[in-house]
Amino acid sequence: MADYSAAREILLEEREKLVHQLKELGATESGALRSDLDFGEGFSDAGAVTAERTEVLGIVESLKSHLGEVDASLARIDDNTYGTCARCANRISPERMEVRPRSRLCVKCKTAMA
Ligand SMILES: [Zn+2]
Repeated sequence: MADYSAAREILLEEREKLVHQLKELGATESGALRSDLDFGEGFSDAGAVTAERTEVLGIVESLKSHLGEVDASLARIDDNTYGTCARCANRISPERMEVRPRSRLCVKCKTAMA
């Protein structure tokens, strides 16, 4: 069995960064925005606040999905399916896993799905 401790380190680091970014945006780990979120004095009119809020929500959404992928990868390390293609169950090359630690599919399947 391959040793994915390095990949785990990378993923955990990535996870920490994402959680931090979410917090900075006033979102919880699950992605919920605080209802009392204050966008500051600069946003005096409601329209600007709404626009800003929509933009923040978009960023939160993408961070959340990124975080979900990281968590899924960590779970796959734990149940020993990490590095295995989710579609054809073949082993994904360690080189690919190194470049893209969140890969769920082998190159062949990824290409087929695209
Ligand atoms: Zn595959």
